[in-house]
Amino acid sequence: MLQKFLASSQLKIKEDNDVSDKLLNIYEVSETVDIEDYLRAHNIFYACPRENFLTKVYEREKVRSFSAKGKISVILGSFFQHDIRDKMKFFYHDNKEFYLVGKWTCKNCKKIYGDDTTWVLPPGVCSCGSTDFAYCEVSFKNDELYLKGSVDGILKVYDRITEQTEYIVLEIKLIGNTVMKKYEEKFFSADYYYQIQTYFLLSGLKKALFLLINRDAWQSTQIIKTFWVSYDEEVIEKIKKKCIENKEAVLKFVLPSRICSTPLDERAKDCPVVKECFFAANEWAIEKYKQRILTEKKDLDLKQNQ
Ligand code: SF4
Ligand SMILES: [Zn+2]
Repeated sequence: MLQKFLASSQLKIKEDNDVSDKLLNIYEVSETVDIEDYLRAHNIFYACPRENFLTKVYEREKVRSFSAKGKISVILGSFFQHDIRDKMKFFYHDNKEFYLVGKWTCKNCKKIYGDDTTWVLPPGVCSCGSTDFAYCEVSFKNDELYLKGSVDGILKVYDRITEQTEYIVLEIKLIGNTVMKKYEEKFFSADYYYQIQTYFLLSGLKKALFLLINRDAWQSTQIIKTFWVSYDEEVIEKIKKKCIENKEAVLKFVLPSRICSTPLDERAKDCPVVKECFFAANEWAIEKYKQRILTEKKDLDLKQNQ
C-alpha cells in the first residue's frame, strides 16, 4: 500500500536525502552494549574477544552508536520479517515443498507449540479455539563455545523426486537500493556470510536460504534476491577459533589475539580499548582484574554456602 502510494507520487515528490540524513542525525542515539560472555551469531564477524576482555579489565564502557536511520531499519526489518515469514509458511519451488517450521505462539492465549529443538508446523487450531499463530524465532546456545543466536526461520524441505526431507536455515535481510545493486554484481557481505555459517555451527544444519528484500523497491526493479548458502568448513573453523579465544579469556584470563592489523583499521575506530590493545603492557592490569574477579567469586560462594 505504502509502496503503491510512493510509486504513484514519484513525480510530485522530490526526495532530498541530504536533508533527511541531517534530520536523522538529530535523533542520533547511543546504546550501551551489554557485555555478556557469550558471542552472538548476528555480529560474529565484527566481534572481538580481545575488545570484550580488555573493556572488562579496564572497566571501560562499550558504547556503540546507532543512528536513528539504523534503528528504523531494524524496526522495519523485523516488521517485514513477520510479514514475509507469513507468506513463506508454504511454497513450492524446483520440485520441492518448503514448510516453515519452528515455534508458534497462539495470538489469543499465548500458548506455545514446539520449542528450540522440536520444530513444528503451525498447528491448525489452538486448544483455545483460535487459528491465529505467530512464528517465534528458534534460538540456539552452545555452552562449549560460549556462542548463541536465533535464526529468522527453519524450513522443512521435501523433495518430491527423491522423497527425501531436509531442514535448512532461513535468513531474511531488509536492505536499501545501494546495497541491492552491489548484490547484483556478485557481492556477498562477509558479516552476513559469517552470521549464516554461525547458524550452521549452532544448529547442525548445512544449508540456508538467504533472502534479501529491497526496502527501496519502488525505485528499482529488483525487489527480492535469493541465495543458497552452503556449509563452509574453513569459515566455521575461524568462528570456532574466535569462540575458543573468548572462552579462554572468560575462564582463564588469557588475552585474546587481535582482529585488527593496525590501530587505524575501520573496526579499531569503534573500539574503546584501541590504545590498550596496541600500546599497553596489559599483564599487570589483567592480573589485578583476575584477582578482583576471583575474590568476588569467592565471596559469592561463601554467601551461597551460609
Ligand atoms: S583495536 Fe581491534 S583488535 Fe584491538 S581490541 Fe579493539 S577491536 Fe579488538
Ligand atoms: Zn490459544
